[in-house]
Amino acid sequence: MQCGIVSIGNELITGQCVDTNAAWLSRQLAELGVPTVVQVTVGDDVAAIAEAVRRAMARFGLIVVTGGLGPTPDDVTRAALASALEVGLTEDSDALAQIEGYFDRIGRTMSDSNRVQALIPAGAKAISNPRGTAPGVKIERDGGTLFALPGVPAEMRAMFGESVRPFVEAQTAGRCILQRRIHCFGISESRVGELLSDLMKPGREPKVGTTAADGVISVRIIASGASREEAVALVAADERAVCGRLKVAVFGRDEQTLQAAVGSMLADAGLTMAVAESCTGGLLAKYLTDVPGSSRYFSQGWITYANEAKVARLGVDAALLERFGAVSAEVAEAMAAGCRERAKSDVGVSITGIAGPDGGMETKPVGLVYLGLATASGVSSKRLLLGAHLDRSEVRDRAARCAMDWVRRHLSQR
Ligand code: ATP
Ligand code: MG
Repeated sequence: MQCGIVSIGNELITGQCVDTNAAWLSRQLAELGVPTVVQVTVGDDVAAIAEAVRRAMARFGLIVVTGGLGPTPDDVTRAALASALEVGLTEDSDALAQIEGYFDRIGRTMSDSNRVQALIPAGAKAISNPRGTAPGVKIERDGGTLFALPGVPAEMRAMFGESVRPFVEAQTAGRCILQRRIHCFGISESRVGELLSDLMKPGREPKVGTTAADGVISVRIIASGASREEAVALVAADERAVCGRLKVAVFGRDEQTLQAAVGSMLADAGLTMAVAESCTGGLLAKYLTDVPGSSRYFSQGWITYANEAKVARLGVDAALLERFGAVSAEVAEAMAAGCRERAKSDVGVSITGIAGPDGGMETKPVGLVYLGLATASGVSSKRLLLGAHLDRSEVRDRAARCAMDWVRRHLSQR
C-alpha cells in the first residue's frame, strides 16, 4: 500500500502557514510501513481539490486529505470530494449527532453553519472528531480508501490516531517493518550510489537509500517481513552486502557516531591518544570527549593557535614555521609528534589549516588543512582541500571529522 497526501488551504499556498500536517502524516505512515509517494497542496478551490483527489484515488491505496472541513464558506473540501466522486452531498445523521454532542458538551448552541458540517458525499462515512466540530470523512472506492481530516494539527493528529492508524494496522496485520542505518565516512554519496546501484533500484525490497550530513553518508535499509524473523533476516542480508561493498568506509550503524567508533577502537586496542589543534580550536578534543568513558583513551589536548604556542607547548621547530608556514605538512607532522611525545600517548593527532573566510592565498586557499598523525610506527601528514563551498564552521567541523576518520582507518589496518 502506498499513500498520497492532499493538503488543502489558501493559507498554505500563499505561504502564511507552513504545511506541517503532510510532514507529520508521512512520518507516521512510514513508521507503519506505508510510503508516501506524493504530497500535493491545493487552495480552497472545488475544481482544484476535486482534480487532486481524483488523481490520488486513481494511483494510491491510501489517500489522506487535510483541511477545509470547517463551517465557513471557504471550507469546500466536502463539496470537492462529492464532485470528485460524482455524487451529491447528504446530511449524515451520525455526523449531525456528533456536532450536536460537541456543542452540548461545551454548553453552546449550534449555529446553522455548523449543520453544514454534517453534509458528506453520498456513500461516504463520517468519522468522529474528539477535539472539534468538523467530523472527518472516510470514502472507500475501487479498493482504495480516502480519509479527509480537519486542518487544525491537533485535531488532525487525534483523528489519525483514532481512525487512520487502526485502519492501516489492520491492512498490514502482522507485518514487521525494520530499519537499519549504516554510516560511512571518507567516501562520496555518488560513489556509494555506484557501489550500491542494484540494491537502490526503485521498487526493490528491502528499500535501500542514502542521506548525507556533515560528510557522513548513511545508507538506510528498510525491510518489511511477514514476521519479525523474516524482517531481521532481510535486513541482515542487505547489511552484509552493503558492508561488503563499502568496506573500510563503514564506521558504524544506527546511533553510532564516528567519535564513538574511534573511541571503541582505541579502547579495544588499549591505546591512548592526544591532540594538538590549531584551526579547529579544540573541536576535535570536544568530539572525542563527547563520548562517555573517553577518559580510557583520551589523554590531553593542546590548542596552539599562535606560532609561539606551537613552539613553546609542542616543541615545533621555529625554523619549520619560518620556512613552510604554520599551515604545512611539516608543521602538522611536528605538532603530531610533539603532542604524542609530551602526552606520552600512543597516538598523536594534529590539525592546522585555514578556516576562513579571510586569510586565504593563492597557494594556500581557504579550506586548506593539514592533518598530522604520529604513532609508534612513524609520523605522516595528509592534505585536505575542504573547498570554497564550506563556511568557516563547516571547514572546522569537517577537519575534525577527517582527523578522527584517519585515526579510525589507521587502526583498522593494524
Ligand atoms: P476547522 O473546523 O477548525 O475550520 P478545517 O478542516 O476547516 O477545520 P482549516 O480551516 O483548513 O481546517 O485549517 C484551520 C487551521 O489549521 C489553519 O488556519 C492552519 O492554521 C491550520 N492548518 C490547516 N492545514 C494545515 C497544514 N497542512 N499544516 C499545518 N497547519 C494547518
Ligand atoms: Mg476552516
